[in-house]
Amino acid sequence: MIRAQDMDLVVVNGNIYTVNEKQPHAEAFAVRDQRIAFVGSTADVQKLRSANTRVIDLGGKTVVPGLTDSHCHIFGIGEREMRLNLEGTNSLQDFLAKVKERVSHTEKGKWITGRGWIETFWKPAEFPSRQDLDKVAPDNPVFLTRADGHASVVNSAALKIAKIDKNTPNPFGGQISKTNGEPNGMLLDNAQDLAAKHVPKPTEAEREQALLLGINREIGLGWCEIQNAGSDKEDIKLIKTAFADGKIKIRFINAVYGPGEDAQNFLASGPTIDAFNHHFTQRTIKIIFDGALGSRGAALLKPYNDAPDASGFLTERPEELRPLFEEALRRGIQVETHAIGDRANRIILDLYDQAFKAVPPEERKIRDPRWRVEHAQIVNPADIPRFAKLGVIPSMQPSHAISDLFFAPARLGMDRLADAYPWQSFLKSGCIIAGGSDAPVERGEPMIEFYAAIARKSIKGESGEGWHPEQAVSREQALKMFTLWPAYAAFEEKDKGSIEPGKLADFTVLSQDIMRIPDPEILKTRAAMTVIGGEVVFQR
Ligand SMILES: [Zn+2]
Repeated sequence: MIRAQDMDLVVVNGNIYTVNEKQPHAEAFAVRDQRIAFVGSTADVQKLRSANTRVIDLGGKTVVPGLTDSHCHIFGIGEREMRLNLEGTNSLQDFLAKVKERVSHTEKGKWITGRGWIETFWKPAEFPSRQDLDKVAPDNPVFLTRADGHASVVNSAALKIAKIDKNTPNPFGGQISKTNGEPNGMLLDNAQDLAAKHVPKPTEAEREQALLLGINREIGLGWCEIQNAGSDKEDIKLIKTAFADGKIKIRFINAVYGPGEDAQNFLASGPTIDAFNHHFTQRTIKIIFDGALGSRGAALLKPYNDAPDASGFLTERPEELRPLFEEALRRGIQVETHAIGDRANRIILDLYDQAFKAVPPEERKIRDPRWRVEHAQIVNPADIPRFAKLGVIPSMQPSHAISDLFFAPARLGMDRLADAYPWQSFLKSGCIIAGGSDAPVERGEPMIEFYAAIARKSIKGESGEGWHPEQAVSREQALKMFTLWPAYAAFEEKDKGSIEPGKLADFTVLSQDIMRIPDPEILKTRAAMTVIGGEVVFQR
């Protein structure tokens, strides 16, 4: 029964894209007890107002269901704001100038850490070296992570502290990059830990600051939900405490890193679903299975086009994942695995398939486990249909394509580019795609992701040979990638992902109509309002 005196909020005079196929467009809706009660015309919804009902008059503005970032790293987003932010450095000189500036007001001997550089935009497009850093930072150990998080450059002082020299063996799943037999300062994937473990850990207060800074940024961008792609037990404790203290308003889906002790504890204690009034769910284990394309760590079926001796590497041993996967199925835990290269994608599908066969539906806590592959960037055409067949969801970040396609032709060669960032091939095979940003690897802005998905051009409008514009998606598909499909990928399609009666009143108000304006205008669009459970949590 819908009665005006029960309505907490009415939203009227909007241009509302509901993502509900039965009623795709509307002008207005009414909210009761944090959920949508009615969707229709402004005239009908006005009748549902009582004296106590709040009113949001949109004045024609565009509304979409609450946007979800299906893959981000919330502490990293906050830390990017707090540390040396190297995003957008256009040359080695620019990069070194930023380091030098930081050195000038850092005590001698103290570590300098930062993130965000990408050498592919520099001329020449070469990795920085320890010698470069030594020139500007002779007395401070320096540890600077590439934007993708899969490589870092350190200086000689850091190598010395980490006791890395020409005789240090490569760790499993990592590489100490060398020039003429001597470490050159670049540490790839698991080799980063050799130096990272010597960097003083941030205090708990600093970690909390990073979490809250990160969330504040997300809400201001229009994100109503984040799906955090991995956390350890300290992170989990901080997140839960911040929720208990009422400091977090965003909806938060959390994954726990595995394999290892944290994942084992999580398997034993079981999932947390809809805690803190439907704001926090933790039901997923996150595995990292290979490196990234930029640093040639992505595991490929054939060698890199620009490094014939390299074909990347797996960062976990497949046989060690098998028992974990089977246990996860029995206990109703979702698995999401980072797999970028075509070899990593093939092997992870094999492992998922084997686990599904070993633990048939009647032995699972959840029959349809909705396991995910994070990134699924380079997928052999033979493996594309296996996703839909196995019910595995590719979780993809459109901005990766428009960043990587500048160097992907060199890494992969023209032939394999047909298999890279294959959004439309996935959709045609019967998959859904959970859309995300992978921030802080990318900027993490919903309008950049939406634009990248539909335009498949750089933010300056560039395209090039091998960019495969036919893999771009329609605006309707892109909207689903950031609303309904992430909801499904988190088992939440009954509560989230569209504006329809019964669902939580999560929505994002935008400054422009992203379903109609020319492509470049999308990048100028901003969140005007972010509303979660009927509560305005951000307003410009
Ligand atoms: Zn990630």
